[in-house]
Amino acid sequence: MDFKKLSVFLKEAGLPAFRLKQVHDAVYKNFAVSWDQIPSLPAPLRERLKTDFRINSLDIADTLVSKKGDAVKFCFEMKDGLRIESVLLNLLPEKWSLCVSTQAGCPVRCPFCATGKKGLKRNLSPDEITDQFLAAANYLKTTRSHKIASVIFMGMGEPFYNYESVGEAIKTMTDPDRIGLGQRHISVSTAGHVPAIRRFAKDFPQCNLAVSLHACDDTLRNDLVPLNRTYPLSQLAKALTDYIVMTKRRVFVEYVLMDGINNSRSQAARLNSWLRSVAAPKYFTINIITYNRTGGPYRAPAKDRVKVFAGILEEYGFEVTIRKSLGDDIAGACGQLAGK
Ligand code: SAH
Ligand code: SF4
Repeated sequence: MDFKKLSVFLKEAGLPAFRLKQVHDAVYKNFAVSWDQIPSLPAPLRERLKTDFRINSLDIADTLVSKKGDAVKFCFEMKDGLRIESVLLNLLPEKWSLCVSTQAGCPVRCPFCATGKKGLKRNLSPDEITDQFLAAANYLKTTRSHKIASVIFMGMGEPFYNYESVGEAIKTMTDPDRIGLGQRHISVSTAGHVPAIRRFAKDFPQCNLAVSLHACDDTLRNDLVPLNRTYPLSQLAKALTDYIVMTKRRVFVEYVLMDGINNSRSQAARLNSWLRSVAAPKYFTINIITYNRTGGPYRAPAKDRVKVFAGILEEYGFEVTIRKSLGDDIAGACGQLAGK
């Protein structure tokens, strides 16, 4: 919602300033997505606003609910017709997390990820990111009277290739006068954009940082995460050490497990020594993500082999979680977002 434009409009129409505040609170506190959802405005004013202003920049093209009801995927259409997706995840009772997209497509092109397949279409604007939250919050409020407790920037795109918009969106989400989430309830996942990790440490030291590692030797990582060719593991290690020294915060390490690719005992040993070269194990939580099918040569390891890999890392002294895969029946799990 363009509040600057609305402010000018209201002034020129000779309307009192409190109308602006009314709309502002209806959007950010009550999650109104249409003018009819702001009944406190006089009907003639609402009609005038309808012709000139959109509250939410996104149209919901599709809403898919998983069989268990613990994941809801939204397919949004933007003004130019491009589509992006967001996923609501019910990880704890009544605690919902929203996974938002930051780009249409992704320039990094990891070969196992559905988003990366087609490359980058374009960056999202700050509003297009925030509006995913507002639309999903409206949905949760109207369908279940629940709220969104946390936001993860892990949908389509590499957030740190769209740093300005992501930064603006985080400010809107954490500003007490607007959405008002705590910084600690915001997590950003990067494929390892070194300069932006440094910037993020300064700008948002209370937010959570997740790094998609997947491999600890440059040859394999160059293939799995092509951004590694620009920012190899040695540079990533230095940036993470500095991040931890500066913020004193733990880093979430994501490791998508693919059978026969990165799940051997020696690769677990390599992960251990690479992480220890960055900081002590207490500074990491390793999130094991079992590969979700996206078409292509990769395979998920069997469940017990995932557990074995996680067990080895635990023995090395790390906190390890195996990420629950919610919403794979609606193609809403990690890496499956394609915006079709
Ligand atoms: N571009 C950022 C954030 C979006 S991807 C990043 O790469 O970190 C979010 C997570 O989903 C990343 O950890 C990514 O590696 C993972 N992912 C991508 N494709 C996947 C797949 N097919 N199965 C499981 N996880 C996948
Ligand atoms: Fe982009 Fe992340 Fe997918 Fe890689 S995993 S292509 S960085 S969205």
